[in-house]
Amino acid sequence: MTELNLFNTLSRSKEIFKPLKKSAVTLYNCGPTVYHDQHIGNFRTAMTVDILKRTLLHFGYQVKHITNITDVGHLTDDVGGTGEDKMEVGARREGVSARAVARKYEKLYKADLTLLGNIPPFKWTRATEHIDEQIALIKKLERKGYTYRTSDGIYFDSVRDTDYGKLAGLKSMKLRAGARVDVGEKKNPSDFALWKFAAAGVKRQMEWPSPWGVGFPGWHIECSAMAMKYLGETIDIHAGGIDLIPVHHTNEIAQSECATGKLFVRFWVHGAFVIEGEEKMSKSKGNVKTMEWITAEGFSPQDYRYLTLQTHYRKELSVTIESLRAAQVAYNQIAEFIRNAPRRAGVVNKEKMAAFDCAIADDLNMPRAIAVLWDVLRGSDTAVNKRATILAFDEVFGLQLKRLKKDSADALPDVVKKLLIDRNNARANKNWAASDHLRSEIRTHGFDVMDTPEGQSVVRVLY
Ligand SMILES: [Zn+2]
Repeated sequence: MTELNLFNTLSRSKEIFKPLKKSAVTLYNCGPTVYHDQHIGNFRTAMTVDILKRTLLHFGYQVKHITNITDVGHLTDDVGGTGEDKMEVGARREGVSARAVARKYEKLYKADLTLLGNIPPFKWTRATEHIDEQIALIKKLERKGYTYRTSDGIYFDSVRDTDYGKLAGLKSMKLRAGARVDVGEKKNPSDFALWKFAAAGVKRQMEWPSPWGVGFPGWHIECSAMAMKYLGETIDIHAGGIDLIPVHHTNEIAQSECATGKLFVRFWVHGAFVIEGEEKMSKSKGNVKTMEWITAEGFSPQDYRYLTLQTHYRKELSVTIESLRAAQVAYNQIAEFIRNAPRRAGVVNKEKMAAFDCAIADDLNMPRAIAVLWDVLRGSDTAVNKRATILAFDEVFGLQLKRLKKDSADALPDVVKKLLIDRNNARANKNWAASDHLRSEIRTHGFDVMDTPEGQSVVRVLY
């Protein structure tokens, strides 16, 4: 079996990946906060996780994959741990309940993932459906002396965790404790809420009783509680966007490892940002793009998926109309070949498959794997075998090429249609010279004709 090398944020180096248990790789990724449309950067991260999962499946592993749905507790200031719950913001904006907002955006998110070709996780876990597990974990931390109480909640005491900040290499998190920042009642700037109390006199839409008083869980605790419930106290791979490293994932590690005394995650995999030209996409810059924007501009979800495959997941991806257009042209050429190649069982090219395996095993190097696909397309294999090889690659790319329908005959130019009829007649009369001549003529119009048991099959010449 090819050895899979993955870049691990924890060690800042590529390491050979082997799962803890032979039975299945355990994989967790942080899902969306469902109070708003997700932007295309979130979908890029989700596709990176999907590519990772498909690569593991390709190399023969079983994968047990969980994604959470944050439907409570994510505050507008998620670094400082203050502000308003984003779900309540969404509820006010749309004039419906927080729960209705959550379900609406969860549904939209899942629908977009389906269009993008992602394999759904084994389980979607909602934070609001795991309140007991979160309370149990906080109680465990409390028993071990890692928590303290302020007037607005129960906090994690990050100074008690000697490893705090190891994922981000942030000894500075502690240094900042001495800086003059307003930490409110917190002992240190990096301390974070495990449980927040509902403000006195305010009835929240989402609140639950707890040993400390009525309130709701902090954002970070949900991921630790749900990951450990379904995947065990030590999981193989935890993935997410790089923006989650310094706070969210740092805090997940702190609370999980202090509670269990065990390593929480063996491999941390982080995807880079999407940028527009040179600029990071962000709400404050007002340049946030959604999947709706992609389709409104005339691109398909597959065009966007193809575009993401062309850039390594740890590099920033520039999404512009021009980059999408180039991706669309390339994707269409591949799609057209697959649509029109004869639908017979072919033989996968072993040499190309080895090159493909080598690329994806090198920290999911999809740009190199895509280059192998083009080698196959331009190579000298028969169309039947090219199709078989490309469809085998697509089990990892997830471009859903297998689902493409054959081009209808009306998609061909009239002149080509007429030449095909002539050639068909020539072959029926066993006039092979005329048949060959007509094949050359069809080629001058940009089409290659092949003879299959089902008759003539036409593909567009790519070059
Ligand atoms: Zn998370």
